[in-house]
Amino acid sequence: MRGGVGFPTPHSYIYIMKKCSKCHTTKPLTEFRRNKNTPDGRQVECAVCRRLYKNEYLKSYYNKKPWMMEWRKTFSMLINRTSSIRKYNDNVDVVGYSGRQLNEHLSAINPLWRDSRYSVEHIIPLSKFNSNTPQDIVHNLQNITILTKEQNREKLGNMGRVSDNFWNNIRQYINEQ
Ligand SMILES: [Zn+2]
Repeated sequence: MRGGVGFPTPHSYIYIMKKCSKCHTTKPLTEFRRNKNTPDGRQVECAVCRRLYKNEYLKSYYNKKPWMMEWRKTFSMLINRTSSIRKYNDNVDVVGYSGRQLNEHLSAINPLWRDSRYSVEHIIPLSKFNSNTPQDIVHNLQNITILTKEQNREKLGNMGRVSDNFWNNIRQYINEQ
């Protein structure tokens, strides 16, 4: 008889082992985070390496492009204000609108935008703008939309989706390389 009730057999899920592509340690599959795009449904590096790699990557990225850190901070502050009791109506000078206005913009696109299936994204990604771009251009409501996680992965939110008028106003700030 192979394995009793509640006793894991060698074929049980927790016994599937996998070698991490970064630290080259063989670990149980459960120590790799899920990823729908790989054959075994897990990431190639273990969760520990993933975390280290991500932090290092972000650090070096923001060292090279410090303005991006600033822009990301502004944007998360704006998102926070869409549900802030105290600051909901306050205008944010660098972008020229309030959390209430952002909430109204997003709710008009998709009333369920707060659901975890969706994410709030810049249509033209922050990385495309020159470092001297004013934040009322970068975070202009015309550049902010709701995407599903899949759409965001496939980069369906890019470029072509902004209006011609908006594009003409901002193209001087776009990094063409
Ligand atoms: Zn590892």
